[in-house]
Amino acid sequence: MKAYRAALLRFDNDHNPLYESDGLLVVGPDANGRRVVRAAGSHSALVDRFPGVAVEDLRGRLIAPGFVDMHVHYPQTDVIGAPAAGLLPWLENYTFPHESRFHDEDHAREVAGFFFDELQRHGVTTALTFATSHPQSVDAAFKEAQARGLRFITGKVLQDRHSPDGVRDDTEQSLIDTETLIQRWHGVDRLGYAITPRFAPTSTPAQLRGAGELAAKYADVWIQSHVAENLDEVKWAAELFPNARSYLGVYGDFGLLRERAVYAHCIHLDADDRALMRETGAAAAVSPTSNLFLGSGFFDYAAADAAGMRYGLASDVGGGTSFSPFHTMLAAYYVGREGQSKTGLSLTPGQLWWQHTAGAAQALGLAGVVGNLQPGNEADFVVLNPQATPLLARKTAQANSLDELLFALIVLGDDRVVERAVVAGPIGS
Ligand SMILES: [Zn+2]
Repeated sequence: MKAYRAALLRFDNDHNPLYESDGLLVVGPDANGRRVVRAAGSHSALVDRFPGVAVEDLRGRLIAPGFVDMHVHYPQTDVIGAPAAGLLPWLENYTFPHESRFHDEDHAREVAGFFFDELQRHGVTTALTFATSHPQSVDAAFKEAQARGLRFITGKVLQDRHSPDGVRDDTEQSLIDTETLIQRWHGVDRLGYAITPRFAPTSTPAQLRGAGELAAKYADVWIQSHVAENLDEVKWAAELFPNARSYLGVYGDFGLLRERAVYAHCIHLDADDRALMRETGAAAAVSPTSNLFLGSGFFDYAAADAAGMRYGLASDVGGGTSFSPFHTMLAAYYVGREGQSKTGLSLTPGQLWWQHTAGAAQALGLAGVVGNLQPGNEADFVVLNPQATPLLARKTAQANSLDELLFALIVLGDDRVVERAVVAGPIGS
């Protein structure tokens, strides 16, 4: 066992932040050999319960849950910041040419290594990630995540039409490959598999049907895709699936809406779509830097809350412009404020932070596993320095409340704030 003394942030069951200015976090193995939070609270209340446990003194720092990124594309690490006129030209001119290189596992492993380094530098300890259509891209990412002891989810992209040579797959083989990868990787150490249709327009009905059958057969496997990001894409989906009630309805028709199904964007939904999200337990991965960068639209927080939909935050790199959870939380605040196309509101700092930690974990079906520092959670956490820059030091010294402290970090923070990201590591370590 080991303990850390610092300011401490975690969340209660009602999504409210819990804060100790002089806290203690005690981590150690549980009965199954997982390295978990054994206790968390005020230093004075806990210190006598753990005599003999080494305490690392990190006073002046803030310990918080590791961030959870609900939607990111590791093969697009080199696509970040590509200039393009909207989503569909961006896919054609940048994304597909880059992704076509991932048939080479050595290339995939090199990019995956850089990607995980970057996540760690930014304090992201769990990600639900797209690979490419090449099974080698999945093996490469899982091997790299396994070596680092990460809780990590990815899957082979399914795209058997409307895709160029080099990334388009074969319907039957793509489903065989998906099942092989599920059996090889799902539930190994901290790894999980996600059935991954890129989006409805690039899959035939036969491929979506096969994906839905696998989703029924392997009920605790994740599903990830995109929906209703951009109006051109919504129109295209309606032309390709004229019998579906809506774009989201396509996924429902093929059995791809359920718990552990995560849909990036969910911008251009209607009330029936949002009700369908709630009824099925599917979750939205809100990707604000990507939506602002590509000019796709604004996630409607008020409508999502009214419908009782699950959601959490995501970087969506390479459409997104940053791996930084701070940049994503700030962009989510901008998106929430926007009041011309929907109801504008002010997300609180605690809500923004929850959406990128415990809320994202809950939306992934991993509540109580990651994203929080309550006892029993796996011990993935970040050590943050609120004095990382001169302006942050000045602002945080004047903070009179937790909201003021967290919002200063959200608005002014970046990778310089993240001193350390600690992951629980392999089970039994
Ligand atoms: Zn995406």
